[in-house]
Formats: sequence, structure tokens, C-alpha cells
Amino acid sequence: MHHRVLILITLASLCLALGGCAKNPATGKYQLSTLSKQDEIALGASEMPKVTQEFGGAYPDAEAQAYVREVGMRVAAIAERDYPGIPWEFTLLNSDVINAFALPGGKVFITTGLASKFDSEDELAGTLGHECGHVTAKHTDKRMAETSIYQGAASVAGAAIGDQTAATLISTGTGIILLKFSRGEESEADTLGLRYMTAAGYNPRGLLRVMEVLKASAGSGGNPEFLSTHPLPETRIEAVTGALGQPPCNAATSRTDPRWASDYRARLLDRLGKVASQPRPTGQPQPSPSQQQLQERREVERVQQQRRSRGGG
Ligand SMILES: [Zn+2]
Repeated sequence: MHHRVLILITLASLCLALGGCAKNPATGKYQLSTLSKQDEIALGASEMPKVTQEFGGAYPDAEAQAYVREVGMRVAAIAERDYPGIPWEFTLLNSDVINAFALPGGKVFITTGLASKFDSEDELAGTLGHECGHVTAKHTDKRMAETSIYQGAASVAGAAIGDQTAATLISTGTGIILLKFSRGEESEADTLGLRYMTAAGYNPRGLLRVMEVLKASAGSGGNPEFLSTHPLPETRIEAVTGALGQPPCNAATSRTDPRWASDYRARLLDRLGKVASQPRPTGQPQPSPSQQQLQERREVERVQQQRRSRGGG
């Protein structure tokens, strides 16, 4: 008991030292904070070019980018109510790695690798809504504040807590900005994502399908990188399934719009694969399916070319 009180006093004083525990309007919870909104926006803006470059650059198709931005902004218009004045940006990254993530201050990314696994716009909206949830819940700020507390506590106590928490910081080559979130934070982002996408008019089942896609990719040995920054335990899927029966999600489950699937095909899927994706500069040089397909296509073209030049059919 005495121990608990001591910890609480330590946390409270650290909390004050760090700039306080503000109540977050998105989650309704008090949380540790070291970054102001302007700090978050500046951090996101400075990391954005590095992260974009690390994931093969922006997919070089203005219309596909515009489509991702349009869907993202529709969801962000709702998220904006929780965290106004954020310069939201949505980028489709030219990478076969299966991933989506957000930087603080509203910079949201999805790879072509993940987007190509979806069938419908509501899955895209669910993914972007989840990432908007990480932004409005200020998860990176919270994680950084908690880490500095742990590190502070570790150095004071001379204990080895630091090693463990340092492991939660994922080294990406760009720095520590892409953090591994906890299960609780993932669930929080799911809840927020469901709320945002539903209010934006999308079918919340889209987020459940995203999880099924990720689970299937993991099961088939695809090992989506998304799961390294977004743990996907069975409990998360159960929680989202449960939320679908609760308001406001249940009101939307009966609504289906075939346009979402046809739009998604025409405005995104059909536009993917027209531009060669670049291999990631770091990581395992595992040939991706689309690169293999491109290679095969080139081979077919080469053979056809030979046949043509020989006058064959
Ligand atoms: Zn997440």
C-alpha cells in the first residue's frame, strides 16, 4: 500500500514536471503529455518526408492519391471535432509492405501493399479512421511521455526498466516516431475509427474486414509489417465485432452501398500495378508478388517482341 502511494506521488510529480495530464477530448481520459499541438504538427511535418522516402515514396499517380485523400478527409472531418486545427494529409505509399500508420499532427499513410488487399472503400475508410484515432488520441505523445517517465524512473532507481521500454520504440531508420502501440491503444484507435467512419457514412463492418485481411495475410506467412506496429490479438477482433451491435455502429450495419466497391475498383485498384513499385531500401530483399508479376509481364512482352521480330504469332 505504501508502495502504491509512493508510485502515485512520483507519477503525479512527473506529470507536473512534464507539462501535465490533460483530458483528451477524443478518449475522455486524462493522459500524460509532453507535446503541444504545435509540437505534434511540427514533428509530423519534419518526419513525413523521411517516412515517405523510406516506404518507396508517394505512389506516383495523382488520381489514386486524390482518391485516398478524399476518403481520408471525409473521415478526418469527423475526427477534427475531437482535435481541431490539424493539417491532415493522407498519402498512398508506393510499397508492397503491408502497412498503415500515422505521424503525430495528422500525417496518415497507407501502402499500396495494404490498399491492394481491400475490395471496398469502407475498408480504406476503416483503416484511415483507425489511424486518425491514433492522432486524436495523441498516442505518440502519450507513449513518449510514458517512456521518458520510465527512463527517468529507471535512472533514478538504477533499475533495468529502461531496456524493456526502449524495446517498445521501433527502430525504423528514420527515428523513433513509428512507435509500437499497446493493445489498449489499438483498441482505443479501433473505437475511434469505428465512430469516425460511421459518422462519415461508411459501413463499420469495413474495419472488421480490414482485420480479417491482416489476419489472413499473417496466416499465409505474409507477416504484414502493420502487425509490428499494430498488435492484432483476437480480443481486438472480438471488441470490434461487439461494437458493431452497439450504437452508433448498429445503425449503419444494414446500410450497404455497392458504389463503395465499384468506386474502389475504378479509382484505386485499377490504378495500382500500372506503375512499378520500388523495393524498400531496407529490410529483407524478398521479391514481392507484384514485382514478380511485373517481371513475368516483362518476360511475356520480351517473348512476344521476339516472336513479332521473327514474324511469328
Ligand atoms: Zn493502430
